[in-house]
Amino acid sequence: MKSRISPNGIHLFDRLSGLNILVDELRPKEAIWSTSPRQVSVALTNLCDLHCAYCYAPKHKASLHIDQVFGWLKELDSEGGLGVGFGGGEPTLHPDFVEICKRVAGETQLAVTFTTHGHRLTSKLVERLKGSIHFARISVDGVGRTYEDQRGKQFSSLLRGLESIATLSPFGLNVVVNEHTVAELDAMSELAQKAGASELLLLPQQATAAVASMDGVVGLALQDWVSNYRGKVRLAVSEVGASGLPTCDPLPDERGLRAYAHIDATGMLRASSYSHVGAKIGDAGVLSALKRLRNTFEIQGETQP
Ligand code: SF4
Repeated sequence: MKSRISPNGIHLFDRLSGLNILVDELRPKEAIWSTSPRQVSVALTNLCDLHCAYCYAPKHKASLHIDQVFGWLKELDSEGGLGVGFGGGEPTLHPDFVEICKRVAGETQLAVTFTTHGHRLTSKLVERLKGSIHFARISVDGVGRTYEDQRGKQFSSLLRGLESIATLSPFGLNVVVNEHTVAELDAMSELAQKAGASELLLLPQQATAAVASMDGVVGLALQDWVSNYRGKVRLAVSEVGASGLPTCDPLPDERGLRAYAHIDATGMLRASSYSHVGAKIGDAGVLSALKRLRNTFEIQGETQP
């Protein structure tokens, strides 16, 4: 089990089962808290072969090198990081995607996860990834025609992707919640259960250049759906957009950059993929960039620990 020293206690995590244990009888002093964010997401590439309107990934070409990614993750692993989520763009389009996952799973204690649109999950790719992925996420925004209108791909192709991912590792469905998908949450939770998913992650739509944020009417419909949800698949919600929903946070003192950070495909460290403030990761490494980013937030008077 990997251990992490958190403001809320000693946090033990098993990446194979996903089991978390918090020994909160112990309250470690700040001087010994783990310095890495608990989770980090890494955009391996901005490349994607889909064109979703609500996509927030930058459209300029950029990709990270396997050695850079591995070096940063080694550093975060040694300072108490628990997991990495690879994304993009579409991470499976990175030429070294499999190698990166294998190396991180084999040479660190981090849980390796990734988010994919699911249309490139051939049986060959799944075979190569087996043993190096602890959890996978597949984006499913609506069913049937709604999905096809949102993602511009055939729903039948997504269903094949779901079948493939189910043979790879435990997995969850990611759902962008907007005026088109909110009415299909029941159908998506049924799909999640039928496909064997263990989580349905709700992502209230955020504003991009092409779309507005989820509006109040959709927000109320989402709140209503969540309150009445009786499905078997666990629900989760992104921190951005969770307001008004009944959430549980077992680590209330581990916020901001202590909980999570994002590395974009140009090697900038950010508080989230939506944040406009970043610190370039240079030769001094990712923890040095983290320190600079914290200082920036402190100077700006923003509450990032
Ligand atoms: S699949 Fe994901 S990365 Fe690709 S365009 Fe859609 S939202 Fe963006």
